[in-house]
Parts: sequence; C-alpha cells; structure tokens
Amino acid sequence: MTYSLWHGFADMASVVKNGPFVLTRGEGAYVFDAEDNRYIDATAGLWFTNVGHGRTEIADAVAAQLGKLAHFSGFGDHAADVSIELAERLAAIAPVAGSKIFFTSGGSDAVETAAKLARRYWHEVGQPDRTIMVGRSKAYHGMHVAGTSLAGIPANGEGYGELMPGVESIAWDDAKSLLGLIERIGAERIAAFFCEPIIGAGGVYLPPDGYLDEVRGICRDHGILFVADEVVTGFGRGGAQEWFASSRFDLAPDMITTAKGLTSGYVPMGAVFIAPHLADPFFGGGVWWRHGYTYGGHAGAAAAALANLDILERENLLQRASALEGELAEAFSPLAGLDAVAEVRTGLGAVTAVQLADPAQAPTAVAHLRRAGVVTRAAGQGALQVSPSFVMTTEQVRDMADRFGGVLEQL
Ligand code: PMP
Repeated sequence: MTYSLWHGFADMASVVKNGPFVLTRGEGAYVFDAEDNRYIDATAGLWFTNVGHGRTEIADAVAAQLGKLAHFSGFGDHAADVSIELAERLAAIAPVAGSKIFFTSGGSDAVETAAKLARRYWHEVGQPDRTIMVGRSKAYHGMHVAGTSLAGIPANGEGYGELMPGVESIAWDDAKSLLGLIERIGAERIAAFFCEPIIGAGGVYLPPDGYLDEVRGICRDHGILFVADEVVTGFGRGGAQEWFASSRFDLAPDMITTAKGLTSGYVPMGAVFIAPHLADPFFGGGVWWRHGYTYGGHAGAAAAALANLDILERENLLQRASALEGELAEAFSPLAGLDAVAEVRTGLGAVTAVQLADPAQAPTAVAHLRRAGVVTRAAGQGALQVSPSFVMTTEQVRDMADRFGGVLEQL
C-alpha cells in the first residue's frame, strides 16, 4: 500500500517502521483501527476532542445546518445567523468583557490574524514603528509565516527562505529576558508578545510559578500587546473550571487565539478574541483592515461549535477537565521513578507529558504504547503527550497510566 498523505509529525518514523496505522472510528476516549482494535486516545486527537469522539449530536447539528445554509462569507454588513449566534456565545465567555470575535479556519490562521492585527493596530493609532513581534523559545504557534517566525522551534522554519521580518525570541521561562529585550531595542518598537500559557507542541512545559503574571505585567507597563495563544489550552483544557487559561491566570489578554477545542475538532475552525480597546478602532470605527477568510465563521463549523459548547456545559466538562488535573498527576507522577523517564510534567489542567530520559527512544516508546493499546505522540525532545478528552473516566486514566508504566518499564 502506498500513502499519499504525509503528516510530517515527529513520530512518523514509528508509523513507517511499524506499518500503517489507520483509524476508522472513535468513541468517547477511544479510537479504533481498521481491524477494530481499540486504543486509548491519550492525545484527544491532537489536543482537540475535548468532548470525546463519536458525538453524533455534533454531526447532526452540522448536517442540519448544511441542509439549511452551508455558509455565507461574513463580510461587510452580512453574515449567517449561526455565525453571529456563535460570536455572541463566545463573547459571553471571553476572559475580557466586550471582546469581539474574529473567525478563522484553524489555529495557524488565528495566529496569523493576531500578528497582522497587532501591527495594523499600531499603524492605525499613529505608532507605525511599533512592529516588532516577540515569541519564546520552545513555543509553537502554527505553521503559517507569522506563527513559524514566532515559534521557538528553529527546524520548522528552515529551508523556507526569509520568514516574517521583525521577530525577536526570548527564553520561554525567563520573564527578565523580556525586560532585557525592552532595554535593548526599546518598548516603543515592540508591537506584541505571543505567549502560550502552557508550551504545547514544543514539548509540553508548564509555566514557572509567577511567570505569566510577570510577563503580563511587563507588557502592560510598556504598552506591549499581550497575545495568549490558547489553541491548546482553550475551552477547558487549562483546568480550574475555566474556559480559558487566561481566566485562570487573570491575564486579560489583548488578543486570544483559539481553535481545536472550539469545535472539539469535528469541523475545522478557529477564532481570535479581540479586547474591545483594540477591536473598536477597527470594527467600531468602520476601518476595514483588509484581512479575512472565505470560511471565517463557516456556518457548518459554527453549528458544530455551538453543539460542542452545549455538550461542554450540559455535561459539566469544564469541571471534569479540572478534576483530570489531579487524576493525571496522581496516576502519572509515579512514572518519574522509572529509569526511562526523566520527569513527568503535570498539574495544570488536562495536559501532562512523560519526558523520556533519552529522546531518541521516543519512536520506540510510541510504537510499543500503540501495541499496548494507547495512542500518543512525542512532542519537543521526547515528551510523550497525555492530554485526553474530558470524557475520560478515572478508571480509564488509571488504565492508561498502567499501560504507560508497563511499556516504559521495559524500554
Ligand atoms: N498555536 C498553538 C499553540 C498550537 O498548538 C497549534 C496547533 N497545534 C496552532 C497554533 C496551530 O493550529 P492549527 O494546526 O489548527 O493551524
């Protein structure tokens, strides 16, 4: 069999080595392969199936919407009713009251949108020299030009020629390095700082105590826009029974980029939450800043998002995500004692990682875990992801940790 689909993921080596792995269906916290073997989905797809797999009510909502009005691009004075309904629903849960919602087709588009809007904002308010964007080492902000430039994964940007100019990078865990940059180049040249509350695809690193508070304060003191990239942490994954990690850490960001959990991945969609002081010069003042997507606010995707939000609320899944924080910590922390494991990073929402002592063992670990009935992947330098759907039960968490333990003991 030949494969024309190339994922480009780090664990592709194990797929090739161990033969094709083709998924055919999902149910709650499980996925099934073509032979109907069942696997625990340790990664919630890729940090997105917050409500779990196989939710026919989302499929039904999308089908009903597509039959009524598949989509109508929301430019100028018109938009589909369901897109507006979703925008209002999101505005109501936004960490910053009065936020405007800008829809995109996914997370990379959301980051690109936030980067462009940050520069355009300063241009519009008479500070056109404020163009520098600041990202962090280890960060991941998607695959488009701005996101690749802002990310702290240099390999992702190699071989593509010049990416976005005017980007600076600071150490992911050192707030003082932001101050150092400000001293070096001047705050009046810096447009925005991009920050994942939890470093995700770059290796799953939790912020050091007080870090987020400190960088937020520095940005505020120097008038630098603070963009929280919550593509992973949004819609409950950051725990504390909050929709967004920004609320948990009281960040009040100028912009929040989201995707994944917005629709639980049933249909692609992203959104940027834009604080009113930033949005109003544009949306309120009638400025069209020449940026937008055909499928922004796609009606079918909006229907999926609304059904997804209904499920999260009806089934108290933000509370469940919050409980998973403790359950994952309890079940996975003991693995830190194994020779093959350097550390277990856990304790912040439904996000955990088992850091292998030898990152080169990651493909083998992923392959063995798959044989043991668990789907995971390695991020960063050999960090095995554990970030399940919120519907995963306590028993399933323990089962998953046992399987990790069994495999890693033998590695
Ligand atoms: N930002 C972050 C923090 C992400 O984790 C991701 C995806 N893993 C993106 C942006 C890009 O999102 P997408 O893959 O939907 O374009």
